[in-house]
Amino acid sequence: MSTKTTPGPDSDAALRVKALESLLLEKGLVDPKALDELIDTFENKVGPQNGAKVVARAWVDADYKKRLFEDGTAAIAELGFEVMQGERMVVVENKADVQNIVVCTLCSCFPWAALGPPPVWYKSAPFRARTANDPRGVMREFGLELPPDAEVRVWDSNAELRYLVLPERPAGTEGMSEEELAALITRDSMIGVAKVEPPVK
Ligand code: FE
Repeated sequence: MSTKTTPGPDSDAALRVKALESLLLEKGLVDPKALDELIDTFENKVGPQNGAKVVARAWVDADYKKRLFEDGTAAIAELGFEVMQGERMVVVENKADVQNIVVCTLCSCFPWAALGPPPVWYKSAPFRARTANDPRGVMREFGLELPPDAEVRVWDSNAELRYLVLPERPAGTEGMSEEELAALITRDSMIGVAKVEPPVK
C-alpha cells in the first residue's frame, strides 16, 4: 500500500483497506507476516523493472528472444517472474514499421508478473475505448508519433492472455551491458505507448 494520500475515491478506498486489514488481523484471519510479505511483493518485487530485465535479455540474447516468442510464460519465469493468476504471457515485437499496443477493453487485465499493477490510465474507460478505435490517436497523446506507413497492432488482454510489448532497441546502445539497457526500458514502452529512448549523452 502506498502511504501517499490522494483525494477522492482513492482515500476512501485506502480507509476501507485499513479497516478491513484491522478487522482481519483482530479476528486472527490473516497472519501479519503474510500480509507484510504480500505488501512487499507488490511494492518491491513486482513492477516494470521485471519486464525491463526480460526485454534487455531478449535484446542481448537471441536464443532467449526466440524462447520468449515461443513460450512467453516460461521464458519470463526463467528470470524468476512467475505469473500470478494462471494467465499465459504472449510477447509481441515492435519493429521500425510495426508498433504494438496493449489494452484490456473489458476491464484492466495486465501482465502483472512483468509490469506490476496497471497504471490508472490503463484502467480508465477512455483509454480502453479509444485504444481499440484510434490507437494512433492514443499514442499521439502519449507523445508517440508514428510514421504514416507504420502498422499498428492492438492486443486485447483478457483473464487468460496477457501481452507484453518487446520494444525496439534504440540506436546508440551498442556496447551497453544488459543492466544498463534494462535501466532505459520504461513501463510505457512495454505497453506500447512509448518507444525506448536512446541514452542521454
Ligand atoms: Fe481485463
